[in-house]
Amino acid sequence: MTPPTPLIAGNWKMNGTGPALVEARAIADAADVAGVRLALCPPATLVERMSREAAGSRLEIGGQDCHADASGAFTGDVSAEMLREAGARLVILGHSERRAGYGETDALITAKALAALRAGLEPIICVGETRAEREEGRALAVVTRQIRGSLPAELAGKPFTVAYEPVWAIGTGLTPTLEDIAEVHHAIRATLKDMFGEAGAAPAILYGGSVKPGNAAEILALPEVGGALVGGASLKAADFLAIVAGAPKA
Ligand code: PEP
Repeated sequence: MTPPTPLIAGNWKMNGTGPALVEARAIADAADVAGVRLALCPPATLVERMSREAAGSRLEIGGQDCHADASGAFTGDVSAEMLREAGARLVILGHSERRAGYGETDALITAKALAALRAGLEPIICVGETRAEREEGRALAVVTRQIRGSLPAELAGKPFTVAYEPVWAIGTGLTPTLEDIAEVHHAIRATLKDMFGEAGAAPAILYGGSVKPGNAAEILALPEVGGALVGGASLKAADFLAIVAGAPKA
């Protein structure tokens, strides 16, 4: 099976109003890079406008979360179908800020992954250990348990992506050692193959957590690192494009 095309995806979190679209426009204009996929996941309020900015370019747009149901009495929520209609093609699910801040469980993330499939969105499913779990030597056990618990069997053969994001590395400037990143990515690939057979070789496995222009190239060169999920450094086109420049191409 051919290796997955690397994906560099930006997570804007709760940042960005209309004026920030100039950054997305600059990324869209530079997105015609062979052998690598580029995506931005803005707040829900910007998905439609950013999709229009990206139209005709290779920049893909995604949501940051979705509800498991298509519609209903869920004040404040957005469904996968709504994101799709607004122009999204991907959706981040199970980000640690949602697991920790909103009590999202593996079972809920599974339901949201099924919703993404139903709506024709490619899920980017996030997993990662806390600092305490790493210090207790439980990182691999936690991450593989999250993979088994958060990915429905229905994903087999469908486009999806996994992001390994150690909770303690997000927004902190800290990163695991290259050896630790490689070890977790190998464990994730082995788990995906165990769950999905040969189809488990297809999904890209992204690394996320304080990826910057200065450290991206060495992380992205590691075996089984199939791209990056980038938070803070995705808000400025120059930083994001510098990370893309350092990414190996398929
Ligand atoms: C993220 O929010 O997914 C993330 C990785 O953030 P940062 O790059 O800012 O650490």
